[in-house]
Amino acid sequence: MEIDAAREVRTTCPYCGVGCGVLAKVAANGQVSVRGDPDHPANFGRLCSKGSALAETIDLDGRLLHPQIHDRPAGWNEALDLVASTFRHTIAEHGPDAVAFYVSGQLLTEDYYLANKLMKGFIGSANIDTNSRLCMASSVAGHCRAFGSDTVPGIYEDLELADLIVLVGSNLAWCHPVLYQRIAAAREKRPEMKIVLVDPRRTMTSDIADMHLAIAPDGDVALFTGLLAWLGQHNALDRAYITAHTAGFGQALFAASTLDLAGVAAATGLSEDELSRFYSLFARTEKAVTVYSQGVNQSSQGTDKVNAIINCHLATGRIGKAGAGPFSVTGQPNAMGGREVGGMANMLAAHMEIENPGHRERVQRFWKAPAIAGEPGLKAVEMFKAVADGRIKALWIMATNPVDSMPDAGAVEASIKACPFVVVSDVLAETDTVRHAHVRLPATAWGEKDGTVTNSERRISRQRPFLAAPGEARPDWWIIAEVARRMGFGEAFAHKSPAGIFAEHAALSGFENDGERDFDISAYAAIDVEDYEGLAPFHWPAPSPGTPLWPAGRPEGGAQAQLQSEGGAQAGTRPEGATSIERQPTRFFADGNFYTPDRKARFIALRPTVETRITAAFPLVLNTGRIRDHWHTMTRTGKSPRLSQHIAEPFVEIHPEDAQRHGIGDADIARVSTPRGEVLVRVLVTTRQRPGSLFAPMHWTDQFAARGRLDTLTASLADPVSGQPALKHVAARIEKFTAG
Ligand code: SF4
Repeated sequence: MEIDAAREVRTTCPYCGVGCGVLAKVAANGQVSVRGDPDHPANFGRLCSKGSALAETIDLDGRLLHPQIHDRPAGWNEALDLVASTFRHTIAEHGPDAVAFYVSGQLLTEDYYLANKLMKGFIGSANIDTNSRLCMASSVAGHCRAFGSDTVPGIYEDLELADLIVLVGSNLAWCHPVLYQRIAAAREKRPEMKIVLVDPRRTMTSDIADMHLAIAPDGDVALFTGLLAWLGQHNALDRAYITAHTAGFGQALFAASTLDLAGVAAATGLSEDELSRFYSLFARTEKAVTVYSQGVNQSSQGTDKVNAIINCHLATGRIGKAGAGPFSVTGQPNAMGGREVGGMANMLAAHMEIENPGHRERVQRFWKAPAIAGEPGLKAVEMFKAVADGRIKALWIMATNPVDSMPDAGAVEASIKACPFVVVSDVLAETDTVRHAHVRLPATAWGEKDGTVTNSERRISRQRPFLAAPGEARPDWWIIAEVARRMGFGEAFAHKSPAGIFAEHAALSGFENDGERDFDISAYAAIDVEDYEGLAPFHWPAPSPGTPLWPAGRPEGGAQAQLQSEGGAQAGTRPEGATSIERQPTRFFADGNFYTPDRKARFIALRPTVETRITAAFPLVLNTGRIRDHWHTMTRTGKSPRLSQHIAEPFVEIHPEDAQRHGIGDADIARVSTPRGEVLVRVLVTTRQRPGSLFAPMHWTDQFAARGRLDTLTASLADPVSGQPALKHVAARIEKFTAG
């Protein structure tokens, strides 16, 4: 693609799932500047600290600029031939399930689509999973159980229209800052809006909360199951909605009724008074949105937590309406796009299901594929165990750093080291994962990449290049297509551009639509290659052609959003370059129909169990998470001195009572141990922390902290339904470290 350096380019932030629009410009002296895109409907010009510092993170320092084989430079042909032939021989000798791809929510939708197509349709295995498994797999599983499909009902405007926002396991102020800013701005205009924070820690998000429920770790199923019982006991159910649009309510209520308020209090560590106040507020507030993220998802009960929340919204009919609904917000910039193209071990493309023979047949026919995976493949944790025990013999890791980000990372590193053939495509020459690759393939980075991403509210935006690809770096989609071609699948991977891949993906979404899912899988069937270049951010599904286009102006206190949501959108000034794709967002489930065979949503009967992992040897619960100014393993944000000023080194938070008990003072160095390993880390004594628990950020790796990697402490325990690791609840101990 031609890059016009004098022009400001509309693109999208590569960090979190808010998906903010960015305007990027390269000055004549090569200096890059970025600002928030005032016309992007996710952020309306806002950027958080990470987004504002994007220009500081795109230098070529440390970039992988040429292919390498066994640490020596190689040409693209040699490297690609080696990857293709090794995968081909491994499959011929050991079968398709002996190979795997581990991909990333950093990939663009077009990259994801081709990787999924190659593995599921041409290799014939479903061994493709993603680091998004660590981020939102429990939400996907919960949606599928309740709605019959992975469909996110909420849009951002709901957060401005709600009278009650319940934030569960979500430090929005640091992890989704622009959404937090939108809520804070709406709250200023509508002081009657109430906000409840459910989180074991008192985080920055509690600054705008009217009520902070410092819940015990993994108390969420009890909290929301107790709420369901309370709604039943206090005549606060929407009986008409339950009868017309749901199934399984009786069993769910019966299971919930075994729990009285005292039982909920015991399971959650909250007082009966706190519970009554929260339950009563929820019961009387029609416009209620429950927002949740990693505190819910990253749990051995993650899927049950999601369904416990959804149960309460179904029981009150608060779903599919403006300002009401359950709303999972994704961690990564394209976790949602990966879901749309089936980039997980248990999904097919276009929201079709791998276990549905009709869907498999349809996708195979569309792809003209020689094979189609017949059953779900290995999810992330299982995949690295299969690498460790030799079942996976060739592994391709794309755009992610599992040696630092997976739970029990020491074991993951050992498995990768022992794998006979490891390919890594990445932008960096040196990460804890890249260093173990037999073949390194240089990929293009943000600012050079061209494609689409989907944010937490199902809004698809373009990432556009404003920099030329350096060295021999190539787009991920190109690398995948070249390997596929050399494996003998050239015709199906003859794509010349991301536009062509997106058009194919769009065509598949509407391919032989049998009416079974006429709403979501025909989501973008109308988009073709011509639309792609100027594509304005749009929600899928686009409803019917001819509906009003780009909304006029920006939302004022949610008023504009109200108009849109209630069908009163007005045609506005279309931003330059926008196409006819942007239409009034369609509200899922507004008609009470879901994607189950009988079109009714499902209640899930849940009986909370209290899991205690602590022991006498490891008496504390370690919770891991993000800080405001760093992203994942800091491969980009670590380059910005400005971002590192916020918090300069790793730390562990501990409550004063626990600190005193363990003889530890503020700013001491402590040894934090779990059954998996130990690290030395600076102590922060704070009443923000619940007694009995620790918090430590996940970002620092060997590269940035010489005293051990936190990720080596976490266990590979995962939710049995979603396969998402329980990164928020690890048994640990702490002791003061004294040198010598
Ligand atoms: Fe980027 Fe997320 Fe910040 Fe927006 S809120 S600028 S998407 S990191």
